[in-house]
Amino acid sequence: MSLSTLRARLKALAVLNYDLFRHPDMAPPAPATLYTRIAVDAATVLDRVPPVAEPDQRVVLPSESELYRLYDEYNWLYFGGKLPAARIEYSTRMTSAGSFSKGEKLIRIGRRYHELFPEEVADTLKHEMLHFLHPTHGAAFKKDAARIGATVRAKAHPSLCRPPRYVYACPGCGKLYPRQKRLRMASCGECSRSGFDRRFKLRLVRPGVFKDANGPA
Ligand SMILES: [Zn+2]
Ligand SMILES: [Zn+2]
Repeated sequence: MSLSTLRARLKALAVLNYDLFRHPDMAPPAPATLYTRIAVDAATVLDRVPPVAEPDQRVVLPSESELYRLYDEYNWLYFGGKLPAARIEYSTRMTSAGSFSKGEKLIRIGRRYHELFPEEVADTLKHEMLHFLHPTHGAAFKKDAARIGATVRAKAHPSLCRPPRYVYACPGCGKLYPRQKRLRMASCGECSRSGFDRRFKLRLVRPGVFKDANGPA
């Protein structure tokens, strides 16, 4: 029952009680007697109904110590315990699922991504662990990912869109091309007739303004 329905019913109930007690056979009620009290009570009962608790929407992700425990488990389960000790931490800033730095032996798990896809935390951890053995997402990575049940690509979500690192413009029509990566030999798709056309070679208008500290996952 919605709050407005409940409110309407209680109001109706208040009137009803009052009318019952105002039955012609009964003596008219004195003010602030039982009759009026019931009516007043019914009308104000809403103020005493505790507000309906919102279901807790906050996603609880595994703690960092749980991530360390998982790391050890996967290390023994899938890598014969051969991976070195790593640092694991959540990143609140990163929009990607995870990142890996071999030099620092550091795995970062993206909090924003996993608040959307909490069921993927273990998968991301496995993915990043694979980077100890495979720096890129090449064939060897994919084969190993299939072996241990890790995905290669993270999901996309509108709220995870990053601002472009580079913005290119066509010198012909002025169309803008926001990109995450640098373009080398690219010309405007609208103006170029067949393939690359140097007259419409895209020019960098905003170089690396949005560069952040997070490398690719
Ligand atoms: Zn153009
Ligand atoms: Zn990766």
